[in-house]
Amino acid sequence: MTSKKRPRILIIYTGGTIGMIEDPQSHALRPFDFTHLMDNVPKVKMLEYHIDNIQFTPIDSSDMDPDGWRDIALAIAENYDNYDGFVVLHGTDTMAYTASALSFMLAHLDKPVIITGSQLPIGEVRTDGEENLITALQIAAATTFNGDPMVQEVAILFENYLWRGNRSTKKSADNFNAFKSHNYPELAKIGLGIHFAEKALRRPNERRPLHVNTGMDRNVIFLDLHPGLTRPILHHILNTPGIKGIVMRSYGAGNAPTHQWFLEEIKRTVDSGVIIVNVTQCISGAVHVNRYAAGETLTNCGVISGHDMTSEAAITKLMYLFGLGLTPSAVRTRFNVDLCGEVTL
Ligand code: ASP
Repeated sequence: MTSKKRPRILIIYTGGTIGMIEDPQSHALRPFDFTHLMDNVPKVKMLEYHIDNIQFTPIDSSDMDPDGWRDIALAIAENYDNYDGFVVLHGTDTMAYTASALSFMLAHLDKPVIITGSQLPIGEVRTDGEENLITALQIAAATTFNGDPMVQEVAILFENYLWRGNRSTKKSADNFNAFKSHNYPELAKIGLGIHFAEKALRRPNERRPLHVNTGMDRNVIFLDLHPGLTRPILHHILNTPGIKGIVMRSYGAGNAPTHQWFLEEIKRTVDSGVIIVNVTQCISGAVHVNRYAAGETLTNCGVISGHDMTSEAAITKLMYLFGLGLTPSAVRTRFNVDLCGEVTL
């Protein structure tokens, strides 16, 4: 008789609503420690996994930044060989940014990194945190028929779905199903059972040792187009000191104003070596720059298409590529490559 090995899972606790408690005076939710969180989920013991944890100073994820991403990535890398999977507990507000950033930073990842959190704190009677934590642990421990990890990428588990991390967006501030990947199917559906969509799951083409890149360059910014944008304001944004990359959130299929002054400002910025990426403000669909003249003109100015990438993936991809120390022309070329399932080309 063969005895199955107990899965070994590492939980990395960064904060977020899941572990928060109410301030008795102001009634505002504040981050709290991991022991409190685990005391509220006694059922975890029923899983019979070997579970260890690393606790960072718990934060509201509004305070998450590239230093936090570096700490999470390094914690995973330092423990990579000792665990079958990793569960990251994180606030929902910037979860999609963290998921996208980690997917780029953890090159050649072939184990599960499952990020989850909750809308209601773990101590509340109707909390979604208990179910999310337990399901995330089960997904991190799941294997294929051959015994390989079922999930070999960074993913977000929330309520009824598992989504690819770098395809996800927070879509609701109060719904239990808070995340969605609008341009990529779910990796698993969670109901009575966990049903993996094996065709949608990422499978690395070649097995190579995990390589962590932690140098995310912060000299990037979003530019949200809206009717009434003036030349002085646009000029000011485009001339932000130190700026290297801009994610321009354009209209529809990637369209922008066709005024001469607008195009002059954009072209001058691109010619100066700043990378401008075009993503759509729409919640789903992709940039098709040649569909309208109002999109084509951007291509003529040297703006790159972000295709069907999320804003979160586009900005963290720019941070990652500049963080590698690449020249603007190398960033331009690499941006157009699907690095880890973040874009449909
Ligand atoms: N503000 C919280 C956070 O992102 C929200 C949450 O966790 O749901 O940390």
